[in-house]
Amino acid sequence: MKIVTIGTGYVGLVHAAVCSEYGHDVYAHDIDRKKIADFTTGRSELIEKYVNEPGLVNIIRETLGKSLHFSDDLEAVLEGTDAIFMCLPTPSDVDGSTNLTFYNAAAESIAEVLAHRQDKRRFVLVNKSTVPIGTARHLEDIMKAHGVDNFGVASNPEFLAEGTAVASARRPDRVVVGCDCKEDFNILRRVYSQFVHHVRIKYIETTPETAEAIKYVANTMLLTYISFWNGVGAKIGENMPNVNIDDLRLGVTSDDRISTWGSFVSNGAGGSCFGKDISSLIYQLRRVNVSTKMLEASFEVNEHQKVYLIDRAITEGGFKFNNKTVAVLGLAFKKHTNDMRDASSIKVIESLLGKGVAAIHAYDPLANQSAAEVFDPSKNVLFEKIKYFDSAKEAIAGSHALFVSSDCEEFRGFSRTIEDTVKPPYLVMDGRRMIPDYNELVAKSYTYLAVGSMVMTPE
Ligand code: NAD
Repeated sequence: MKIVTIGTGYVGLVHAAVCSEYGHDVYAHDIDRKKIADFTTGRSELIEKYVNEPGLVNIIRETLGKSLHFSDDLEAVLEGTDAIFMCLPTPSDVDGSTNLTFYNAAAESIAEVLAHRQDKRRFVLVNKSTVPIGTARHLEDIMKAHGVDNFGVASNPEFLAEGTAVASARRPDRVVVGCDCKEDFNILRRVYSQFVHHVRIKYIETTPETAEAIKYVANTMLLTYISFWNGVGAKIGENMPNVNIDDLRLGVTSDDRISTWGSFVSNGAGGSCFGKDISSLIYQLRRVNVSTKMLEASFEVNEHQKVYLIDRAITEGGFKFNNKTVAVLGLAFKKHTNDMRDASSIKVIESLLGKGVAAIHAYDPLANQSAAEVFDPSKNVLFEKIKYFDSAKEAIAGSHALFVSSDCEEFRGFSRTIEDTVKPPYLVMDGRRMIPDYNELVAKSYTYLAVGSMVMTPE
């Protein structure tokens, strides 16, 4: 099949790479010319600065120029295509609605080209972007308005998780395909031939609108489950004496009906999707007069979680942040990625700067560079207080407190690094409960404060 991906971000690039690996003839298009030029080199450092996913560069190197082609020339890539995958950004607007500016601009450009195509065989325009329920229909209208004919629209939402994007594209839990007719289902069956009738992967065919809704319900369900543990489990552990949150979690999730995933309490879930998708679904439901209280609560708990440890450090730990140096470890929204979108660290650092810290010592194994772009001092002079380090140990050195803001493996149980580097009085704020041997730290007079536990101060 000749496949085109429009947009080469996390979704488009990974989809293009994995489809090329499965033997399709793939053309990956982006309006960002620099990006396309960088990808065309096949050099890991020029690919990973945009999308850093384990295994991705290897696939690109193996298929580049054979079954995978990068191009910024939309006209050239669209001729004779079987399926066009829309992999464009769909960020939130201030009112929570989905901003379709990028999506609409791409759709208009595609329609202008396709209106004059030579090859008249049927093709499908597929939404992989997360878009409001009804957007496939909207896409159809844009095409028809330009006189494009013999095409179908489809919704094929993407469920990949960053950090394991290649693995989940190669072996997804399910492939959801929403089309209007058999012909279009058949085109997508050929695209996904390795997943149809798979023993483990569910291949689900439905209406475009149902497919669009599946993506929103799945993402808001995941965030709601995370927020349940943060809003209920963590609060019990923090406020009821002698309740151990780890045992509570284990006891509850030992029930086969209750997921272990999402039960680890934290300083909130970030990333490019959860926040914007729940905001969008709230907006979409309000428009049809449906109560959104439950979704609003999930969203609010998640936002509250991101920074409340800092307030607890003041009220429960008696810590004064003014003029202190604080190490912030884990800047990306989670481990194995350099993606800073909606990362909890952003709120953590902004809150600390607001409390008058003298300096922030920042460290992330992958995201120092992308964090420096987010914390650009030309946007806020306070960001000049942030210094970046090449290791957690170097970041901790000379600090008065540290905040663990992501789940990078290297932070797990690193109490020895803390002891070797800084002496008490010292405050450890553990947003991810990465230090299971915290008792040893407390015994040595460090103060330990974690999501899900009461503050532990030296005797
Ligand atoms: P991204 O921002 O990483 O990439 C989007 C790409 O589209 C960029 O390279 C940009 O240059 C390009 N682009 C913008 N306008 C264009 C145009 N007119 N023509 C061609 N290219 C254009 O976004 P992403 O993270 O890949 O997300 C894409 C969509 O997939 C979003 O709707 C998102 O919600 C959804 N999604 C993302 C993830 C994820 O983990 N990142 C997971 C599932 C679904």
